[in-house]
Amino acid sequence: MDIVVTLSKSFGLQRWIEEGDPAGTEWGGQKWGWHIGKKAPTKINPGERVYVVYDKHLIGYSPLLYIEKSSGMMPGYVMVRGGNAVAVTIDAQIKSFRGFRYRWWQREIERPFPEWRKLTEPIKYGQEYRCPNCSALFASDARLKVQVCPTCNARYPGG
Ligand SMILES: [Zn+2]
Repeated sequence: MDIVVTLSKSFGLQRWIEEGDPAGTEWGGQKWGWHIGKKAPTKINPGERVYVVYDKHLIGYSPLLYIEKSSGMMPGYVMVRGGNAVAVTIDAQIKSFRGFRYRWWQREIERPFPEWRKLTEPIKYGQEYRCPNCSALFASDARLKVQVCPTCNARYPGG
């Protein structure tokens, strides 16, 4: 089963990109570890996806190579990936969380997410919308092509 993890804002998307092998680049051959804590996920197999959430958005996934015991300072387990990261998102806001979760959406609702790198920029608020679905007022995030109502997760084109 695919799993989902959160990249913290304190680590930052920019630093994560600069580490290497982000989506859309060719693999440089290095392996990357994601520390997962003391309990390793048992239901994910090599080749299945490790999705990453950042700043309330699903930003993409990498295929898992394997899970190993941490050899570093932090005890626990490390999920190891290589290249072939893919930028995809779903049109729903996702709250950050600790540890990991198994994927709870259908893969069919995923779409390419070419603007994912814009999440490194400070939020620029554009137009104000009143959600026709739930009537909540919210300001659009000008970094993104698709706006999502933070109250009911309904989606709108534009930014
Ligand atoms: Zn709404």
